[in-house]
Amino acid sequence: MRKYILALGALIACQSYAHTPENKPHNTWSKLTTPTQGEAEPIGSYSNGCLSGAKSLSATGVGYVDMRRYRGRYYGHPKLINFIHQLGENTDKLHGKKHLIGDLSQARGGKMNFGHSSHQVGLDVDVWMQTVDKNAEINPMRDMQTIVDKVGMRIVDGGIDKATRDALYFSANHNDVARIFVNPVVKWNLCQTEQNTQWLQKLRPWWGHDQHFHVRLTCPENAPNCKNQNPPPQGDGCNADLYNWVDEQSGLITGRIKPKAKTAKKRKPKVLPYQCNYLKYSIIPFD
Ligand SMILES: [Zn+2]
Repeated sequence: MRKYILALGALIACQSYAHTPENKPHNTWSKLTTPTQGEAEPIGSYSNGCLSGAKSLSATGVGYVDMRRYRGRYYGHPKLINFIHQLGENTDKLHGKKHLIGDLSQARGGKMNFGHSSHQVGLDVDVWMQTVDKNAEINPMRDMQTIVDKVGMRIVDGGIDKATRDALYFSANHNDVARIFVNPVVKWNLCQTEQNTQWLQKLRPWWGHDQHFHVRLTCPENAPNCKNQNPPPQGDGCNADLYNWVDEQSGLITGRIKPKAKTAKKRKPKVLPYQCNYLKYSIIPFD
């Protein structure tokens, strides 16, 4: 009997494991679980780089709880850690609520074995769209929920909660924030509901991002190997192009719009900045 229960347990565990996208083999970067010492420095670009001298985000703080700690993706440049602290303090003060924080970067940044193409240099963080009461107990395995009805091209009942809206506003007005990725429907909704839409400039429509928003900071000063992106285009971005994203997302799901045939373009393989090799292979602290 005991054997049967163990076997059944293993089966259930395997099944749930098999269904998660986390069941991917590790790569060189995801195996590195300790940051290097010395001055923090992002090296390379958001989607092709690494991070020297990372700092870790504490599991909890004022106005936030960090989720999925077992992934080891709670490292960032000190600028990012500070930003999360400020965001949490603001939400705590205004709403008595806290954020659920998703992935930052790995201990030495770099490519992850599942989940993101960016988040490689310690300047990106995902923030769940739901906020919770500041004193609420959080189940660490709690699932994210979408706030977007993609087919219906609308936010689900209840809308964007006030604390999340204010967190987007806080982030968009923060000097260190370069851009914020949200589902096109989230931006479209804010375009309709905000009186002054100028602050929406930094909100960029992207696929997914219906359960969390993604904040990306600019490169810190004195980081000559860190590559910024071009700033978002002028204007609030509440335009026909945004509506096309909303419409296409819905149409692709219902079949009204056929996916574009993929052209077999040869992509140049990404070459990591050579400085990342020191972080990759060395177990000696890197200065
Ligand atoms: Zn992200």
